[in-house]
Amino acid sequence: MNDPVLRLSGISKAYNAGLPNEVTVLRGIDLTVAPGEVVALVAPSGAGKSTLLHIAGLLDTPDSGTVEIAGFDMTGQSDRKRTGVRRRDVGFIYQFHHLLPEFSAVENIVLPQLANGVGKAAAQARALELLGQVGIAHRASHRPAELSGGEQQRVAFCRALANAPRLLLADEPTGNLDPTTSDQVFGALMELVRSTGLSAVIATHNLELAARMDRQIRLDAGRLVPH
Ligand code: ADP
Repeated sequence: MNDPVLRLSGISKAYNAGLPNEVTVLRGIDLTVAPGEVVALVAPSGAGKSTLLHIAGLLDTPDSGTVEIAGFDMTGQSDRKRTGVRRRDVGFIYQFHHLLPEFSAVENIVLPQLANGVGKAAAQARALELLGQVGIAHRASHRPAELSGGEQQRVAFCRALANAPRLLLADEPTGNLDPTTSDQVFGALMELVRSTGLSAVIATHNLELAARMDRQIRLDAGRLVPH
């Protein structure tokens, strides 16, 4: 019942294995994230943050090691099963919002819920509630191009949480924003995360933001070390 939401054991990953341009990115990563825990992943660009987050979120597979989500070992599971767990249990946020430009803010949050079998009225109500929680309910009918960078990211946060995942994986979620906006938008993200009680791994270069999370780890030469 109190299984970690994410457990990575002995994760290794190289690109172009066996070729002259082989790059070993991860060298035996162990990471356990408890229910409700928010972990800061600090690393310079190119250190392998995206690779690690993609493996944790079942978008990529490691060369060796295991990924457990909510106590369930994903090793060797079918693509269908992995996709199902990813859709249901994992939310992603990227540096760029990746919202659908032709849809409004609220529609961008409704669509993943419809794809998950939620009825239209319930999906709409949840989307509006989430937008309210991040302080932009008044922007619900705006398309992404009509929103500021900070507002676009707030919508992306709501979309990532629309289907109530257990685990949030974020790759520099405020990296495109100016320092003041970044600080405010990160505050909104943390409030959302805390209010839902979900677990998160949030990659950031920003040490002040990292300090606002429960635990800080650093990716150094392919290994995780306490920061
Ligand atoms: P970060 O997110 O920390 O910037 P990445 O995980 O994107 O780092 O990349 C880590 C290293 O792996 C980099 O040196 C990058 O060039 C390399 N890399 C990433 N993806 C590939 C790929 N598909 N093929 C070859 N090398 C890659």
